[in-house]
Amino acid sequence: MNDLSNLKKYTDKLIEQDYIMPVMFIGHGSPMNGIEDNEFSQRWASMATEIPEPAAVLVVSAHWLSSGTWVTAMDFPRTIHDFGGFPQALFDVQYPAPGNLAVAKEVAADIHGTQVGLDHDWGLDHGTWTIIRHMYPKANIPVLQLSIDYNKSPQFHFDLAKELSRLRKKGVLIIGSGNMVHNLRMVAWDKLNEPGFGFDWALKMNDTFKRLITEGDPNPLIHFDRLGPEAKLAIPTSEHYLPLLYTLGLRKDDEPVSFFNDKAVAGALTMTSVKFG
Ligand code: ZN
Repeated sequence: MNDLSNLKKYTDKLIEQDYIMPVMFIGHGSPMNGIEDNEFSQRWASMATEIPEPAAVLVVSAHWLSSGTWVTAMDFPRTIHDFGGFPQALFDVQYPAPGNLAVAKEVAADIHGTQVGLDHDWGLDHGTWTIIRHMYPKANIPVLQLSIDYNKSPQFHFDLAKELSRLRKKGVLIIGSGNMVHNLRMVAWDKLNEPGFGFDWALKMNDTFKRLITEGDPNPLIHFDRLGPEAKLAIPTSEHYLPLLYTLGLRKDDEPVSFFNDKAVAGALTMTSVKFG
């Protein structure tokens, strides 16, 4: 019944087509943000009230790396606790949002640059549920994930995202979930409780990312390996950065750009997030 009512909601939204959903990159940071009532999670919650209610949410999470590209297609995706060493309260969280096979099929059909498989094994990893449970606490909106093919180039991800742009007109909220600056080896664990603390290189890259995003040319951001030594520290591995390229691919010309949660954490992470539209 739940699935049918959501499907109806989805098709109703298709008929509306009177707006284009914004697209967002969200810095997810520590899994603890999933249960903490802090400045970051409060902003996620308020953001959801500022945009139209989506027919479905599609998340590209840093935590689903795969061979090939997959979209979750199950009716009820499980809540995945893909971390260790955190309090039991975090493992106890269930986020029982439904999936939506119709949306999954649309995602697969819209992408022509590669074959997209319908996945029945994954679910919602912490890159997704730690954010979305604050945005949509009733868990009444279908949530799907699109995997990141980790064998592919940054340009591939940017180009693939462009093929999803039609979904924005169909009421699907597409979110890239990662962190622009993300270097766990250099995290200052003793500064975890001092939001705003960032190493010089992290703050410099945060400024560079914001400037390049604002300027609008995606190419320097696609070729982030050419952005100098600070970029190598900010992006030692690309999985938390690639979701940003999906949102850049989905961005339309002249769309408003707004940043939120613009803050470094523990020296070597930034929570900086951006909304297009
Ligand atoms: Zn993460």
